[in-house]
Amino acid sequence: MVTVKARRVPLLDLRAQFAQIRDQALAEIARLCESQQLILGKAVEDFETAVAAYCEAPYAIGCASGSDALTLALMAYDIGPGDEVLTIPFTFFATAGSIAQLGATPVFVDVEPDTFNIDVAKAVKALDKHPRIRAIIPVHLYGGCADMDPLCAAARERGIPVIEDAAQSIGARYRGRSAGTIGEIGCFSFYPTKNLGAFGDAGLLTTADPELAAKLAALRVHGSRRRYYHDWVGINSRLDALQAAVLRIKLQYLDSWTAARQRHAEQYRRLFAEHRVPVEPQTPAPYQTRHIYNQFVIRCQRRDELRAWLAEEQVASEIYYPLSLHQQVCFAYLGYQEGDFPVSEQLTREVLALPVYPELEPEDIDYVVDRIAAFYR
Ligand SMILES: *Cc1c(COP(=O)(O)O)cnc(C)c1O
Repeated sequence: MVTVKARRVPLLDLRAQFAQIRDQALAEIARLCESQQLILGKAVEDFETAVAAYCEAPYAIGCASGSDALTLALMAYDIGPGDEVLTIPFTFFATAGSIAQLGATPVFVDVEPDTFNIDVAKAVKALDKHPRIRAIIPVHLYGGCADMDPLCAAARERGIPVIEDAAQSIGARYRGRSAGTIGEIGCFSFYPTKNLGAFGDAGLLTTADPELAAKLAALRVHGSRRRYYHDWVGINSRLDALQAAVLRIKLQYLDSWTAARQRHAEQYRRLFAEHRVPVEPQTPAPYQTRHIYNQFVIRCQRRDELRAWLAEEQVASEIYYPLSLHQQVCFAYLGYQEGDFPVSEQLTREVLALPVYPELEPEDIDYVVDRIAAFYR
């Protein structure tokens, strides 16, 4: 490798992103402050319309977080005590937390080692074994979609909905279709580290079903369709106007930011191959027709040592996720054992997320790969 100069590479640099939208965002925030129209209202409706168009979804309903989006989706199907919901243990906590929080039981099924997403053959077996499963939550982890066609076919056969956890995957495509529009409901997060990040917490649901859309819009305001008249027991999960306004501005940049992430991922894969670095870089499956790289992850040996080495070399990295959900203390009551989901458990020991944020320079990636190569030499 050509000599690369030492530099500091953070995992994410949200200040660099802010610099691009600063004037637009501050003007819009000032305007909303003057109007004092701060909750839901026109700014939220405009953002919902813009996201619906972006995701090619007939309806979009803003809410307070991605976690709430998952909870609201399950509430829309009246899922609660006595019900089971199928999902994966190799994901962010909220995926399963939303199920447990409603009093339902998460049923885990292992993931595939190369896509990090639900193993559909195992999902079908779990569906046969658990007649109480009332919904499936596949996760589109790291910005790449789960294998939706066979999963949705299995769900349809049993008459249960598929709720997509698309928190990390806005704009990702599965065989040309937009993440969040393939199952019955799509759940999105605008947590600041997501590809489309708010200035705080925010989330959104998408659906093609007008009745579901109306119910979701009611559930986010305590189940009322007409103020002070409640048809369901919902929650308070309103979206702020300030967040919606910022998100609508950022949405205009999202495709260019995604293109930069894709270039970075390509560069990583090219350099790892050229220099025969003994790591397995994340590579989209053929059905992941548009990967948006919320994370760029490698699988590697001696992961924790590598991470510590990189930190000394001023390269930030992160582990998503260090403990499989079936091994979390709070889920001990589910009765899972170590070894129940060997792929998930192996991934928790091998995955390392590298910097892939849009504003990186090619030289940053040269440096990261150079330092990883040096570690294994
Ligand atoms: C971020 C995330 C969520 C939760 O979103 P919040 O907005 O943080 O509540 C849910 N699932 C996955 C896979 C996520 O990455």
